[in-house]
Amino acid sequence: MNRMLGKVVVITGAGQGIGKAAAELFAAEGARVIATDINAASLAQLENCETRQLDVLDAEAIVQFSQETGPVNVLFNCAGYVHNGTILDCDEKAWQFSFDINVTSMYRMVRAFLPGMITTGNGSIINMSSVASSIKGAPNRFAYGMTKAAVIGFTKAVAADFVTQGVRCNAICPGTVQTPSLEQRMHATGDYDTAYKNFVARQPMGRLGSAQEIAELALYLASDAAAFTTGTTHIIDGGWSN
Ligand code: NAD
Repeated sequence: MNRMLGKVVVITGAGQGIGKAAAELFAAEGARVIATDINAASLAQLENCETRQLDVLDAEAIVQFSQETGPVNVLFNCAGYVHNGTILDCDEKAWQFSFDINVTSMYRMVRAFLPGMITTGNGSIINMSSVASSIKGAPNRFAYGMTKAAVIGFTKAVAADFVTQGVRCNAICPGTVQTPSLEQRMHATGDYDTAYKNFVARQPMGRLGSAQEIAELALYLASDAAAFTTGTTHIIDGGWSN
């Protein structure tokens, strides 16, 4: 019940899906959670969290936000975006947008919050990657897989540089998780049932993951139970990449 007592947590993309599940779980475990998202209406649904509208594409807003909060113990970079298609479907604008939202956002958030963690000698940064990254090539996930692979390199570099200063940095690599955006993507195919069956068919466990299951891994990485863990990529995918 109290695995996060005394910890201050910032989460991006916390309005729905995995970010929301993590925000509410961390709060239930005693953390002071500042849940952020671009969508203020979805933030209003969160239980037991402080909320703050934040667009992770807005560099100035990120700096201002970090000055308002002061040092935090945990930064969970969860906001992300899925571009659908191959390299031939990905023009420069789409490439840039995917990189900005999935990678540059983390660069900005870590630059803003890492100095506070170094000052207190305590920090856990958790970056949301995916199995669709350097771990596995997934069809029609060109820009997505490219950016999520970059997140792994980013995570390892930050972990290596600050390992002696009390700051840990780890990545989570989920397989397919049933969240509102996945629901939207399945509806967008025009044939929800087939899209759902196709996602489930590639799962050796015969089911998709839940946001709660991913949040439990984030909780472990955020908590002191993971004090010896840094620079790692945690696959949580129901055996998809096995
Ligand atoms: P989601 O896609 O359902 O929700 C994403 C949230 O991010 C939304 O609340 C949205 O409003 C917010 N957001 C979008 N743009 C933003 C911006 N510019 N600034 C701030 N917030 C913004 O959530 P999800 O499916 O749980 O995915 C969360 C993370 O997990 C993403 O990084 C995603 O790539 C990753 N992931 C998801 C799956 C999956 O199958 N769902 C699998 C692997 C990795």
